[in-house]
Amino acid sequence: MRRFDSAQDLLALAAERKGSIADIIIDFECQETQEPREAVIGCMRSRLRTMEESITKGRAIRSKTHSGLSGGNAARLLDATGERAPILGDLARQVMTDAVAVAERNASFGKIVAAPTAGAAGILPAVVLNVGKAVGADEKGMVRSLFTAAGIGILIARHATLAGAEGGCQAECGAGAAMAAAAAADLRGGDPETILHAAALALKNSLGLTCDPVAGLVEVPCVKRNGFYAVHAVVAVDMAIAGVRSEVPFDEVVSAMHETGRLMSDALRESSLGGLAATETAKEVEKRLAAE
Ligand code: SF4
Repeated sequence: MRRFDSAQDLLALAAERKGSIADIIIDFECQETQEPREAVIGCMRSRLRTMEESITKGRAIRSKTHSGLSGGNAARLLDATGERAPILGDLARQVMTDAVAVAERNASFGKIVAAPTAGAAGILPAVVLNVGKAVGADEKGMVRSLFTAAGIGILIARHATLAGAEGGCQAECGAGAAMAAAAAADLRGGDPETILHAAALALKNSLGLTCDPVAGLVEVPCVKRNGFYAVHAVVAVDMAIAGVRSEVPFDEVVSAMHETGRLMSDALRESSLGGLAATETAKEVEKRLAAE
């Protein structure tokens, strides 16, 4: 298979083969791992099942983590009924709840799929499983959509970064939202061009997002941010499917993200020296944890 190095290459390959981005990534994985197609797909299927399990277990968390900074928020969203029910509607509620559930599972050291990273692990599962269910996709369709997401992740990793310490949270939750938007656009029947616009829209609107975790723990703002950026991904998909286009193409958005990360102060790249991590509350938390 001819190698790809950009979204433009993916589009050209998809047109040449009259195929999908998912198929290109499956072939790429077969080449990289020297495994047969069934094994590569089987491996992704098991990732999807782990994602599902992390949602179920995260939803059941009722207690706080050791730091007291997170825990029980997915359950809170599930319990919000009647006048307290989210006004956004059922799909957004499920997406935000499940993204928070996985992030809380991560904060309590449970098993998650770090796609693209542990800190941003809630976005992709919440979007794929809930949008998949909403459009009547079966497990096979959801697994395929994860390959589409992987294509986006590969390009971001290759031309920018997936590390908060290097690019800020735009590289974690921003990249997660772009991957989720691509997967969901695929699940909704979007063609490769639409999928790339969905990813570009999601990533573009994450630029500048800082990484400033309180007390250096992947809890605040990370857990709730997963909920926000999962819904953000669904907005990008709705726009792309409706025909809204990103004026800046995906490849250029990735370059802009790389450059934005480079321009960001070290204090805002996972060092816990700036932003939320430098607030009075964060200092109090640090003091309390150090005294334990
Ligand atoms: S704020 Fe930092 S640690 Fe938290 S999810 Fe974002 S990149 Fe990861």
